[in-house]
Amino acid sequence: MTPAVPGSAGGRELPLDFAPRLIAWQRQHGRHGLPWQQTRDPYRVWLSEVMLQQTQVSTVLAYYPRFLAAFPTVQALAQASSDQVMALWAGLGYYSRARNLHRCAQAVVAEHGGVFPSSAQQLRTLPGIGASTAAAIAAFCHGERVSIVDGNVRRVLSRLLAFDQDLAQVASQRALWDLAQGLLPEVPSPDDMVAYTQGLMDLGATVCLRSKPLCERCPVNSLCAAQAANAVGQYPVKSKAVKRRHESWWLLVLRLRPPETDDTAERFWLQRRPAPGIWAGLYCPPVFASEELLTAALSTHAAEDVQHLGPVAHSLTHRELRLHPVVVTTALDQPVDSDGSWVNASELADLGLPTPVRALYRRLP
Ligand code: SF4
Repeated sequence: MTPAVPGSAGGRELPLDFAPRLIAWQRQHGRHGLPWQQTRDPYRVWLSEVMLQQTQVSTVLAYYPRFLAAFPTVQALAQASSDQVMALWAGLGYYSRARNLHRCAQAVVAEHGGVFPSSAQQLRTLPGIGASTAAAIAAFCHGERVSIVDGNVRRVLSRLLAFDQDLAQVASQRALWDLAQGLLPEVPSPDDMVAYTQGLMDLGATVCLRSKPLCERCPVNSLCAAQAANAVGQYPVKSKAVKRRHESWWLLVLRLRPPETDDTAERFWLQRRPAPGIWAGLYCPPVFASEELLTAALSTHAAEDVQHLGPVAHSLTHRELRLHPVVVTTALDQPVDSDGSWVNASELADLGLPTPVRALYRRLP
């Protein structure tokens, strides 16, 4: 058995032979015939990655070509109506993915000239693109040296490294991500990154299975710390997550833009959060429980421009908030309800705003 040799990530020993073995195995034994593997077009790769997030490959195989036939380019998807997009997504489930997909296409067209950004870091700024999806697109399409770490990959790497930290904790997920970066091939060609990234996916999907992993067929079994300790069943370590309630909040970011002839600053409608409750006493845009309620509240406003920003996840002790900011620009100096006041943009810095709301105003276009 080959012992792990010292690596360079966080002072922890890493099996440096992992990447070459995985690449060689993927080229010979991995999956090669999936339709989204025949392209390096970021639009097609992104579409497949989003569809595969919570859906089996066998199901995606039916939806992917239909979707592409209807929307062959990111421009076509951006121009489609949400009804058209939802109709083609129907049956795939997790419909927020479809809404984000549509918004992301619109953002790529409006903000990036119809071309997906090439780095994982930039891709992560787009609606619905998380760290692992961004890494997959950047590695597959541009050969970027960056690691995917989705649920399957976490399972593989936690066994390989006998990683005993609790993966229910965000800090542990970050630590494993650092180790995943340390395992990457040292100076990979773009083709190496394609094989490596696909290899991680294939290993998790076909060999290092959740229950009853096929260790005897595994290309890295002689490097695997869990296997060496006969403790594969102990990994990944994941405590039962604290039960948190999930809530979606729709934030109406109402922006009053003065006429060009007027030199007053733009203003925002803010309300003080009621007590008791979340963010009690802080200032916040009006909150609605659904997009429909937000739209209804706006019915008297002639909005010049309505922009959906990508959703923002925010964890509280007993709640997981998903914030959906909708930026509405208007010239009508009229509130949406009696509660609240207009605040000059320049005064926002001095106001008590919840952290994600402050961040939201900072990233307003
Ligand atoms: Fe997973 Fe077994 Fe391979 Fe270890 S040896 S990575 S547990 S399949």
